[in-house]
Amino acid sequence: MERAAGVETNRALPDCKLCGGLTKPLMANNGFQIVRCAGCEFMFALLPENYDLRTVYMDDAYWNGGRAYGYPDYEQASRDARRLVLERLNRLDQITSPGRMLEIGCAAGDFLREARSHAWQIYGVELSPTMRRRCERQLGCHVFASLQEAAAAELRFDCVALFEVIEHLDDPLTFMSDVRGLMNPQAVLLLSTPNFGAPEALRNPHSHHWFCPPAHISYFTPATLHACIARAGFEAIQIRGVLEADEMPLPRLLVKALEPFRRGRRLRPGGLIGKLIKGWQRHHPHLLNWANSMELYARNPRVGH
Ligand SMILES: [Zn+2]
Repeated sequence: MERAAGVETNRALPDCKLCGGLTKPLMANNGFQIVRCAGCEFMFALLPENYDLRTVYMDDAYWNGGRAYGYPDYEQASRDARRLVLERLNRLDQITSPGRMLEIGCAAGDFLREARSHAWQIYGVELSPTMRRRCERQLGCHVFASLQEAAAAELRFDCVALFEVIEHLDDPLTFMSDVRGLMNPQAVLLLSTPNFGAPEALRNPHSHHWFCPPAHISYFTPATLHACIARAGFEAIQIRGVLEADEMPLPRLLVKALEPFRRGRRLRPGGLIGKLIKGWQRHHPHLLNWANSMELYARNPRVGH
């Protein structure tokens, strides 16, 4: 059931959830007010009091095209993400050896299935009862119903992965500190989230489809994502741009120039042009600013602080 969420124009604006600075109104979308910090520029949506975000994901309509802010088609998204899943596991292999992994927001377990074939011992967290059961049935692994439930199990993890999760959180800083509490010293954090610092997001935020509360609540740029993860106590933080299958971060002029060679086909990261761009991107880290999505790697410090 949809919940009414009228914009509260008279409400005092809350302080920034990352740095405590003053916030200013940015815009309203789907009936929610979105603010931006005047200091660190972190952007977030304001939720009505007692709004239970969990209901968004426990509703099956979120996964099968029944909600404008949900998955148009989970099965298609899962097929589209396969190449990215394999690339991520290969990158993970290069920075750590397999141990116990927790994926938060594991859905039907596409990433966990591949992680297991890379010798990881897998666990998930998933709010949706339908997806949780499906993942457990298909993979035979344990999937917790919440982060609190995972914490109560008193397991410690060598890798925690969260793909397109942090933008859904109302209090990402507290959540990421809690996540760190579940990790072994030197364990690896791997997460991805849309880049709200990309030109297309900043140029016209009103019509940018990723500003979609109540699904997306926290809107990160490379700088605010780095700040959030550092404040949560992680170190050795690296952020890279991600080239998604149907969203190449190219200037519009170049897309037009390439059109005769593409002959209507989508630009694929695995194709020749995609490979050239990736090579170029590796040597020009500032191109992160063009990427529509960010991928972050960090470590839990050897000693807690
Ligand atoms: Zn701030």
